[in-house]
Amino acid sequence: MNISILGGGLSGIALAYFLQDDERIERIDIWEKEDGIGGLCRSIRKNGYTYDIGPHILFSKDKEMLNLMLSVLKEKNDLRRSNQIIYKGRNVQYPFENDLSKLPEDDRNYCVQSFENNPYRNYVPDNMLQFFLKTFGEGITNTYLRPYNEKIWKYDPAFMDTQMVERIPQPTDDEIRRSAAGETVDGYVHQLYFHFPREGGIEAVVKGFEKRLGEKCHIHLSALVEKVARTDVGFIITAEGVENRAGIVVSTMPIQELCAVYEGMNEDIADNVRDLKYNSIQIVFVHVEEDYSGDNFAFMIPEKDVIFHRISKMDFLGEAYHRREGATYMVEITYRAGDYTDSLSEDEIKCRIEDGMVYLGFAQNSSEISFINITKHRYAYVIYDLHHRKNMNAIRSYFKAEGIHLSGRFGNFEYWNMDKVLREAGNLAARLKEKNL
Ligand SMILES: Cc1cc2nc3c(=O)[nH]c(=O)nc-3n(C[C@H](O)[C@H](O)[C@H](O)COP(=O)(O)OP(=O)(O)OC[C@H]3O[C@@H](n4cnc5c(N)ncnc54)[C@H](O)[C@@H]3O)c2cc1C
Repeated sequence: MNISILGGGLSGIALAYFLQDDERIERIDIWEKEDGIGGLCRSIRKNGYTYDIGPHILFSKDKEMLNLMLSVLKEKNDLRRSNQIIYKGRNVQYPFENDLSKLPEDDRNYCVQSFENNPYRNYVPDNMLQFFLKTFGEGITNTYLRPYNEKIWKYDPAFMDTQMVERIPQPTDDEIRRSAAGETVDGYVHQLYFHFPREGGIEAVVKGFEKRLGEKCHIHLSALVEKVARTDVGFIITAEGVENRAGIVVSTMPIQELCAVYEGMNEDIADNVRDLKYNSIQIVFVHVEEDYSGDNFAFMIPEKDVIFHRISKMDFLGEAYHRREGATYMVEITYRAGDYTDSLSEDEIKCRIEDGMVYLGFAQNSSEISFINITKHRYAYVIYDLHHRKNMNAIRSYFKAEGIHLSGRFGNFEYWNMDKVLREAGNLAARLKEKNL
């Protein structure tokens, strides 16, 4: 039996790794359109710097998957989170609700009082905004959660469902009081300590799995999948003009891309796919001659007038990522095709970034800032809008009936991190191994 995996990101490479020991599988082909593997976990190399598509870190509640990722690395750095939210010029330690004493007095009182006297507490939330109001009250929602989420998602949280947030714990009255009184409590402790490859960026994880692939696995680079057709005895995958046969097909490429190349695609399901919402991202890598940001990693910026939602200091990740004096930052800007941000030219984006960085104190003036690289990535964040679940249920049932397996973040169109992508690849491999191939 031959298996074709469409897409050579973490899920594609990991799936081959999980499947290769099944003796009934003779050959595993991985088709990747880029000239290297990694997908969203690919690391970019420019002027001696290595950096990722967004600051990736290794953490998980799923210790088995975390340990598996760490086991394929040559060496890792163990780090402790030091993230800040910049609110009205002040650093508030992340997560916001655990460091309320840093807020101006009026805002602090607004947050505490609306938390303690919360009229929304007993509702069952229908959407993300209602969840924030119920869980945190009006003050924390309006000062931080709502503006930050509107900025990163470019989508009103009232039109997003609760899938992403429903596991966020509700702080107690006592925790909120202590946080307002000046006690900084570490929240979200499962991400407090994290790991990062000592060298090579996050791509080292995918490369680590690649090194463990045996002879029956064949990775085809620069191999854009142009057509997927079902036959009586399996599938024909056309990549770079050449037809290849496979008994089993697993698609990890974005569902939009699969839909575009699938022969005889059902039009109603294609409508479901068109209705899915996602964000693209611009990753801007900059150097500042002086370091004004201290021993911190990521800064969240809820303020609307600053174009970026997050700026991360890459030097924090270890010696290999600190190339010269001063500080090197990754700036992230989300957008969607055709929106206002997308209409800005590269020079306008650079200008806005300089303004934002000087305004927030990451540089004293724009002459201290030099741009190293700007890249754009179409598929970055799945948006759980109010139609997401209905659309994905229909899409998933359709491809299941067609005999095509979906895997990965955009393959399944779920907001999955590396640990979950890996777990799901492992689960899919186990299901395939149970089948009569
Ligand atoms: C900004 C950002 C920050 C993140 N931070 C973290 C983090 O800190 N920790 C964490 O665990 N996770 C993080 N993630 C999530 C992580 O990147 C993903 O979970 C993971 O990389 C998804 O892997 P994948 O293989 O499912 O998908 P992808 O990486 O998207 O792989 C799909 C592959 O399909 C290929 N492809 C597409 N179309 C075709 C075609 N027609 N033919 C052939 N190949 C095709 C693509 O080139 C790509 O290589 C972050 C993601 C983003 C966007």
